[in-house]
Amino acid sequence: MKIINSIIHMQALAIAPEREGRQISFVPTMGYLHEGHASLLREGRKRGDLLVLSIFVNPIQFGKNEDLDRYPRDLERDFKLAESCGVDVVFIPTATEMYPQGFQTGISVRDISLPLCGASRPGHFDGVSTVVTKLFNIVRPDVALFGAKDYQQLAVIRRMTHDLNLPIEIVGMPIIRESDGLAMSSRNAYLTPPERQSALSLSRALKRARELFLAGECSASVLSSEVRTLIEQDPLVIIDYVEVLDGEMLQKVKYVDSVSLLALAIKIGQTRLIDNTIFGEEF
Ligand code: AMP
Repeated sequence: MKIINSIIHMQALAIAPEREGRQISFVPTMGYLHEGHASLLREGRKRGDLLVLSIFVNPIQFGKNEDLDRYPRDLERDFKLAESCGVDVVFIPTATEMYPQGFQTGISVRDISLPLCGASRPGHFDGVSTVVTKLFNIVRPDVALFGAKDYQQLAVIRRMTHDLNLPIEIVGMPIIRESDGLAMSSRNAYLTPPERQSALSLSRALKRARELFLAGECSASVLSSEVRTLIEQDPLVIIDYVEVLDGEMLQKVKYVDSVSLLALAIKIGQTRLIDNTIFGEEF
């Protein structure tokens, strides 16, 4: 497994397989890897001849009072997991090389970036779209894999790839959960034991909404208020949003069907967590 820090080296390495007609698959991450990342890497291994993982805590997607400085990091552990998933190249650029002095270009995907996390974290998706575009230009993948855990991010990247005619197949992968239902996230490391217990209210509320839907409840407002009531029972949890939207355009809907999205964001102490479900898909 090769570790590469410089952009020019990564670009040079990506050109050879391209010329030889070998496929590059790519999994961009912010590191502190877990089984959710591993599922993307294993699928990436199957889909490409050269599997590239990037680890970059992208400063421009963090707001002023967010957790950029304390985002968890453990490269040694990440390398072990990457190796066990068959990664060929780990690309770890520096922030100063990614955003040198004078940097002033950004990618903005309009409407789809506005609701949900876009409303709570202004500028977040501009930061994501910009870094993913840069990483695509550096790694030059044929296939890139993203998790449905960050559902809106996946939607934004699909839209951007289509709109900008990027010759890259975007693959969305299902949410990987702990055995008790909590969606895996690097940020789960922040949670104290009581907070970790409270975090279960997210997946519990999603499951409850799915049960109600299966029992015939189709009203978006009934389902979202049921979810709110359930989550509000836990005094440690503060709701950021509970939204029912159509899963493609991310527009609000009145009535839920199998392709509708229920998306949640909450805060527990200092930790912000998100989770979601598509009613017609497996949980
Ligand atoms: P991150 O390192 O949090 O930026 O995530 C990197 C990629 O892993 C993104 O495409 C995420 O959606 C994906 N990912 C993170 N957590 C999970 C999970 N629990 N299940 C599936 N994919 C995930």
